[in-house]
Amino acid sequence: MIPESVPNMHHPSATLFIVATPIGNRDDITLRAIQVLQDVTRIAAEDTRHSRPLLTHLGIDTPLTALHEHNEDAVVDGLVRQLQQGDDIALISDAGTPLISDPGYRLVRAARAAGIRVVPLPGPCAAIAALSVGGLPSDRFVFEGFLPAKASARRARLAELAGETRTMIFYESPRRVAATLDAMRESFGDQREAVLARELTKMFETVLDRPLVELARRVAADPDQQRGECVLLVAGSADPAEARLSEGRRLFALLSAELPPSRAAKLAASISGAPRKALYEDRG
Ligand code: SAM
Repeated sequence: MIPESVPNMHHPSATLFIVATPIGNRDDITLRAIQVLQDVTRIAAEDTRHSRPLLTHLGIDTPLTALHEHNEDAVVDGLVRQLQQGDDIALISDAGTPLISDPGYRLVRAARAAGIRVVPLPGPCAAIAALSVGGLPSDRFVFEGFLPAKASARRARLAELAGETRTMIFYESPRRVAATLDAMRESFGDQREAVLARELTKMFETVLDRPLVELARRVAADPDQQRGECVLLVAGSADPAEARLSEGRRLFALLSAELPPSRAAKLAASISGAPRKALYEDRG
């Protein structure tokens, strides 16, 4: 007998399955994912050439359709029509959980709007894997995905996050990790705890946890730490005054586009709880 706690074992037809796949170690595929990938009529994959070896390894020869950020709009209608005709479809991305810094959002939205059942098959996700081993507070966290590639936009985003009190999770390219750590020192200060989780579930898996100043030095000095796939975690601000000041600065910048500076500072201070003088002094 199938226990009630295992839902969707007998899934109805016309279901869109969102299937997580490994982020490195191929054994991290779930039994249910293998079953569903075998059973569906079609698999929509971010890069069919990338996914084929995994599927071949699992003995799965279900037809593939490419669904990536450049063609998602164009293929969504066709996939929804196929689902409406009663075919089950699975969505996978190159690695990990689809839609998490990966395509699929438009397909899921369109399928739901068409009344189609959308079923998650949970599994690997680099952000959650990093959080689970990083040793930073995990009761509350924010997923920031990739920071902007341009240095000025990246710095601006990090400045907005200076007062964030939850643990922050970032995806980063190995080419930018050293520069990003330097920019993080500027926004969060040298002593903020941070973690670099690299190549999770793979042969060169490394998790380094230390204050930003030390992590930045270590990464700058060791080219090996600038290779492979990385997740950066940064502890939230432990200082409520810093959080209020950061929020006050953000509000002040928004309000001063519409109001005289003294009025903008007064309003930003009363909404955020930051001292008005500190906001006003920042202007110069
Ligand atoms: N959907 C994926 C997930 O669930 O994690 C993320 C896709 S995103 C395009 C790819 C980014 O995820 C990489 O640039 C890296 O930041 C992170 N990532 C993926 N695999 C990883 C791994 N094995 N170790 C560390 N980071 C990884």
